[in-house]
Amino acid sequence: MRPSLLAALALAFLAAPAAAKEWGDAKRPTPGPARLIGGPANGCIAGAAALPVDGPGYRAVRLSRNRIWSHPQTVAYVKKLGAAVDALGLPPIYVGDLSQPRGGPMSFGHASHQNGSDADIWFNLDPKPDLPPAAREEIAITDLVRPDERGIDPARWRPAHAQLLRTAAGFAEVDRIFVHFAIKKELCGSVAGDRAWLRKIRPWRGHTEHFHVRLACPADSPDCTPQPAIAAGDGCDASLNWWFLDAEERRKLEPKPRPPAVPRPKLPAACAAILKAP
Ligand SMILES: [Zn+2]
Repeated sequence: MRPSLLAALALAFLAAPAAAKEWGDAKRPTPGPARLIGGPANGCIAGAAALPVDGPGYRAVRLSRNRIWSHPQTVAYVKKLGAAVDALGLPPIYVGDLSQPRGGPMSFGHASHQNGSDADIWFNLDPKPDLPPAAREEIAITDLVRPDERGIDPARWRPAHAQLLRTAAGFAEVDRIFVHFAIKKELCGSVAGDRAWLRKIRPWRGHTEHFHVRLACPADSPDCTPQPAIAAGDGCDASLNWWFLDAEERRKLEPKPRPPAVPRPKLPAACAAILKAP
């Protein structure tokens, strides 16, 4: 594991509120209509639906985590993406974490995935053995980025990975998709023709073996907090180059002191009732 990913994971663990265990202990969703409440990093879900663990073009993995729950829009999205992958003639994709049965903070692994807007899709496009769900805890990882993080690993990156990302970004409900910045750079340099979809592909750290899809708030969830708008353009610009600068180069770009960090907003009050509901 590369140091930056370790650091990000450590931060995620440190940031996990003490209440995270309670949310992980809620093994079933609340009954009633599905509603997303709050934001991806401070939210919860009422009436979550489960993703069927197998479907055309996809296989859910690491089922012991019990994170196959989400809003029906997200469940439907994963099914549609699987069907599209199948139609392209690609092997099935592995689907990682969606959310917990009632969403909320997680005791390990993520700061987001709390309000049913997020889904992790693995990049692994190798043909896959037809494993029973219990055998999908330890799965083959395809790390697409070189250890120095300056670019993709040409021995592993394939045009099909770009095809997969273009397909995943092509659904209207997708707000954005997070990938490692080296993957974004590769797309910026190689995608020909229609490049409009690149705007939704956002550079981040980690995300070398999976990408993280974030959907827009569904119409039935007025208490879902929308994400800030993405800047215009394909994002193949200075905002991408920033990721490749060292600390000194970044300091030169930011001569003014940074504003104080804003504490993470608390969970919306409505989430307390969702956690306590029978
Ligand atoms: Zn994720």
